[in-house]
Amino acid sequence: STMISFESVTKTYPDGTTAVDTLDLAIEAGSFTAFVGPSGCGKTTSMRMINKMITPTGGVVRVDGDDVAGVDPVRLRRGIGYVIQSAGLMPHQRIVDNVATVPVLQGVSRRQARNAAMELLERVGLDASLATRYPAQLSGGQQQRVGVARALAADPAILLMDEPFSAVDPVVREDLQNEMLRLQGELRKTIVFVTHDIDEAVKLADRIAIFGSGGRLHQYDTPERLLAA
Ligand code: ADP
Ligand code: ADP
Repeated sequence: STMISFESVTKTYPDGTTAVDTLDLAIEAGSFTAFVGPSGCGKTTSMRMINKMITPTGGVVRVDGDDVAGVDPVRLRRGIGYVIQSAGLMPHQRIVDNVATVPVLQGVSRRQARNAAMELLERVGLDASLATRYPAQLSGGQQQRVGVARALAADPAILLMDEPFSAVDPVVREDLQNEMLRLQGELRKTIVFVTHDIDEAVKLADRIAIFGSGGRLHQYDTPERLLAA
C-alpha cells in the first residue's frame, strides 16, 4: 500500500525559485527510498513537505491517505521521525534523555522512557556506557546514532533522513550505513532519505528517485533497474 504520495506537487518560494516542479510520486509502506540528485534540485524541499516543515504551493501531499494540509503538524510529526546531518541533539541533556524526551512529553513515565531509550541506543549500536554523557562528548558518528535513536523513540511509521551520514568520515559512514541496513531489516519502517551520494543510495535504498535541475523528477525505480539501464 502507498504510505506517502506526491500528487502534482510544486513548491515555488516567495523569491520565485521553483524548487519542486509538478512532482508525482507514490512511496510504498515499508520501502527504503533515496532522493538523489545534484545540489539544489529540490530533494530537501520535497522531503520537508512530507512532515509539513514546508508547504507546497501546488498539488497535494498525502501521508497514509490523508492530505497533510488538513492534519495538525504536531500530530503528523508524531508519526514521522526526522534525522538531520548535524544530529541536532540537545546539548544540555544527557544522551539517554535526548532519546527519552519526546516519549516523556507524550506522557510516558520517565523511567519507562529511559528504559526504552537504552534499548534503542543498543539497537543503533551505541555503547551503553555513553548514555550518561552529553552530546559534545561523543564523536560525530556516535551523535548520528543517537539522532537515529531519538527519531525512532516515538515508534514512527515513517523515518525521514536528510544526508544523515554525510558529516562523518568514510569509515564511520560505512559502519552507519551497515547499521541502517540491519535496522531497516528489523523495523520495516517507511524510510525516505536524501543523499547526493549515488553509491549510498544504491547500497541502502530499494527505490531511488533521481531529481534534476529545476526540481523535476527524472527517474524513479529500483537500484537494479536503474543500474541496468
Ligand atoms: P537540494 O536538497 O536538492 O539541495 P533544496 O530543496 O534545498 O535542494 O533547494 C531547491 C532549490 O530551492 C534551490 O535552488 C535552493 O536554493 C532553493 N531554496 C531552498 N530553500 C529556499 C528558500 N527558503 N527560499 C528560496 N529558495 C530556496
Ligand atoms: P539545510 O542543510 O538545513 O537544508 P540549507 O543551508 O540548505 O540548510 O538552508 C538553510 C536555510 O536557508 C533553510 O531554512 C533554507 O530553507 C534556506 N535557504 C536555502 N536556500 C535558500 C535560498 N536560495 N534562498 C533563501 N533561503 C534559502
